[in-house]
Amino acid sequence: MSSQNFGIAVHGGAGVLSNLTKEQQYIIEQKLSETLTLAYDILKTGGSSLDAVEFAVSEFEDSPLFNAGRGSVYTSEETQEMDASIMHGLNRDAGAVASVKNIKNPVKLARKVFEHTEHILLVADGAESFAQSIGETIVDPSYFHSKKNLQRLRKAKNKIAENHLIQDKIGTVGAVALDKDGNISAATSTGGMTNKMLGRVGDTPIIGSGTWAQNKICGVSSTGHGEFFIKFQVAKEVCTRIEYLNQSLQESSYGVIEELKDINASGGLIAIDKDANVATPFNTDGMIRGSITNKSELNVAIY
Ligand code: ASP
Repeated sequence: MSSQNFGIAVHGGAGVLSNLTKEQQYIIEQKLSETLTLAYDILKTGGSSLDAVEFAVSEFEDSPLFNAGRGSVYTSEETQEMDASIMHGLNRDAGAVASVKNIKNPVKLARKVFEHTEHILLVADGAESFAQSIGETIVDPSYFHSKKNLQRLRKAKNKIAENHLIQDKIGTVGAVALDKDGNISAATSTGGMTNKMLGRVGDTPIIGSGTWAQNKICGVSSTGHGEFFIKFQVAKEVCTRIEYLNQSLQESSYGVIEELKDINASGGLIAIDKDANVATPFNTDGMIRGSITNKSELNVAIY
């Protein structure tokens, strides 16, 4: 099957982004533009959507700008535990890892889970020994250390002590793509939420919540308060409404994010459909996002 339309969308998290300086906004937007341009080239030259989303997400994991891989936020015990997933919409192949502490690119390991095992989700020590067995890049946990993120944790803890609600940075990364063969893929990666309990796993590695890809329907990568995104199976829900209610990508994705707002569940998502239409709804004050398709020029935005 061949499809003329193709494209990719990415996100770098939804949340309280109002305190970003102009310079920080510029640096983030530059990173998004560069990554989108390279990922789009993969698609333009006939590459697969799976390669494009894996590439984009691993680029963000390597950057300290985002809450994934190198920029991961801290648990309540001042450690870092990362989650990631990836899915291919042709036959629903999906892989995920959770609570990994020393994997340089969790999204690459997630892909290897479905390529090399009979499983979908591997966690913690098991995921790490699997990584070792296949030669995946392992780094010392100090690679992920960041003074800024540690301060963020300590601040969040103080807020709890004062009995304030924590609204900390939530800056997961994700990508969705449609390739020239009509295959849709999606991937998401995160350090989770600042001050999370040890072993807490959010929506990011949960197929159907943080990530979903279904050919002929859509691909979704979510970001936000993970517990709600699991309860409402957000990524799959967007596709289900398209499939069974005949909604457009816009109707479906904006509808879901609006409903989450009504129950104070903050976040957003990026989605692409079989015709390379892109939707980027969010109910927070900003979401780092961008896209490029054969029908629409490169664009990046935060607010
Ligand atoms: N959804 C992620 C989590 O709950 C956080 C985020 O999107 O920033 O782990």
